[in-house]
Amino acid sequence: MSDFDDARAWMVERQIVRRGVRDHHVISAMRRVPREAFVPSEFRDFAYDDTPLPIGGEQSISQPFIVAKMLEAADLHPGDHVLDIGTGSGYAAAIAAEIAGRVDSIERDASLAEGARERLQRLGYENVEVHIGDGTVGFAAHAPYNAIIAAAGGPHVPQALRAQLAPGGRLVMPVGSSRSHQRLVKIVRRGEHDYDEHGLGEVRFVPLVGDDGWPEPGSAPHANARPASQPTPPALEAAIRDAAEPLPDLDAPEFAAFFDRFAGRRVVLLGEASHGTSEFYRARAAITRRLIEHHGFSMIAVEADWPDAAIIDRHVRDRPMPGERSRPFRRFPTWMWRNTDFMGFVAWLRSHNAAHRERETRFYGLDIYSLSESIDVVLRYLDSVDPAAARIARERYGCLSPWQQDPAVYGRAAITGGYARCEEQVIAQLGDLLKNRLAYAREDGEGFLDAAQNARLVAVAEQYYRAMYYGGPQSWNLRDTHMFDTLRYALDRHGPRARAVVWAHNSHIGDASATERGRAQDEINLGQLCRAYFGDAVALIGFGTHSGTLATASDWGGPMEVKTVAPSLAGSVEFSMHGTGLARFLLDLRPGVHDALRERLREPLLERFIGVIYRPESERHSHYAQASLAEQFDAFVWFDRTSAVTALPVSVDEHDHAAQTFPFGV
Ligand code: SAH
Repeated sequence: MSDFDDARAWMVERQIVRRGVRDHHVISAMRRVPREAFVPSEFRDFAYDDTPLPIGGEQSISQPFIVAKMLEAADLHPGDHVLDIGTGSGYAAAIAAEIAGRVDSIERDASLAEGARERLQRLGYENVEVHIGDGTVGFAAHAPYNAIIAAAGGPHVPQALRAQLAPGGRLVMPVGSSRSHQRLVKIVRRGEHDYDEHGLGEVRFVPLVGDDGWPEPGSAPHANARPASQPTPPALEAAIRDAAEPLPDLDAPEFAAFFDRFAGRRVVLLGEASHGTSEFYRARAAITRRLIEHHGFSMIAVEADWPDAAIIDRHVRDRPMPGERSRPFRRFPTWMWRNTDFMGFVAWLRSHNAAHRERETRFYGLDIYSLSESIDVVLRYLDSVDPAAARIARERYGCLSPWQQDPAVYGRAAITGGYARCEEQVIAQLGDLLKNRLAYAREDGEGFLDAAQNARLVAVAEQYYRAMYYGGPQSWNLRDTHMFDTLRYALDRHGPRARAVVWAHNSHIGDASATERGRAQDEINLGQLCRAYFGDAVALIGFGTHSGTLATASDWGGPMEVKTVAPSLAGSVEFSMHGTGLARFLLDLRPGVHDALRERLREPLLERFIGVIYRPESERHSHYAQASLAEQFDAFVWFDRTSAVTALPVSVDEHDHAAQTFPFGV
């Protein structure tokens, strides 16, 4: 393989697949089209970077991910007839041509059009025709089209384009009220005058210039133009205070009603700025209760392990426990879930479900730290349905058993120590389970699904611990991709109307592409994947605080301590929020609500991230990173002073009065 082939394969894996694109036509087309042939020779070495590149005439070849995302949304099939508006380099047209039957591509800049025509011909794309002209009026001579895609953003969707869609046809284009900021819109033609429309998130494209687009430019803004000025903090404080909606007390019934504006979303993700702060748990519980009671949300998915959450799920639905090992959350950091706030929420959910058996709310775990428990669940399940298969599974999982108590050591041993890699075995085990799905599921459908998910987890965890050894972004990305896949799996399991609330840390929920770690270190996260996949059917809601106390540890695995949260650093976004003088508020960051403030909060500012470990002695270095708040979140919830969660002990006596106090056994 040439270097470009390697770079292309890696690009598709990292930029496309890991970000949630699943359409196999698009993925395999992206693996084939040589992007290096579509960029000017001086940029060839950057052909597989995660970015648009200049192609002359102030135009650019689109970022690979955006091409994949648009073509996935356009739902291309073999045989389709496609109209591609804004040929540019011809790259997107070539990807479309790999999948569809025939592509008409239209470009207003004659020299770009000539270049693309010659290039596509040289590369052998005989099913693409490049036309010079104004794409805002479509290309009526060859209409109708099964799909229309536009690589430039206009002020609205031109009527001519809607009219040139075949029945069932899909149109995907950026639309926005300014020349440089748009949202991606997808339109499906359902009938003669009947079109469905929905948004797929914010994007930045060059302007669509033409009769039914933007007027001819005096000077077109650059695609990635950003306002240059850094707001001075007092002005930012004042702007936040003007936009802030003061919130009532956490226990007041009106508190959660402030979040009704997100009730129409399919997935609402609620963050937290530390894993040990009571207010974040209580606020999330109150909002979640409201979304369940008043707005038809039917599942909660949290940053906890699948087997632990499965125990809670059975408990809140009053189902029998799978085995004796049914006391959840015994692994560090136990206070993250073994605390009075979460216990109160579980008790509420159990009584809510008891009163609504016909539409029970489910509880799922998205995380991947359950290697040992997940192996147990698979084995126990097979013992009960297929003892012969259980014997084979024991042998395969035996490869991992020396490391089960400390799987991080497995990663190191498998890579450096000459110990066996267990990859093949765990994948084979998952494959076997899925192969027998029909036979197994007949016996016990729910048990099978749970076992299959645990087998999947073992396979991901095996990869995760090997990736951890290298210390790059891969292990983080595997974990967040797994969270996203699990969320989708849980939603799919309950049909197209299922809607979920997610609880996870701000670092998983706030769109990583708006943070230093995302931009500089290639980290992706759950919130970003959700946006890419669900578009504006998701809401990403962050939480923050200035000072108070929290439950934490000084080192991984160490005892829980209650520490004081240091006041937020001058210059941080928290510092400006504190400067408003408000005790609690909601900041609505959706487009069209407080656009001037939003524009200011697009500028990167320091933001505080505290996870399980808190090290106030190295506060700046350990806990702050640059992030663009308005791009990370759709809303932000502020509690100026916060307090530590009250932890519950992990009882040593399994037989005490656990029955009444299950699942926390205090
Ligand atoms: N799909 C291209 C991206 C090109 S950038 C690629 O993969 O390389 C967008 C292109 O849209 C520019 O080349 C610009 O000249 C073109 N464009 C803008 N307005 C247009 C219009 N009204 N009709 C056709 N092309 C247009």
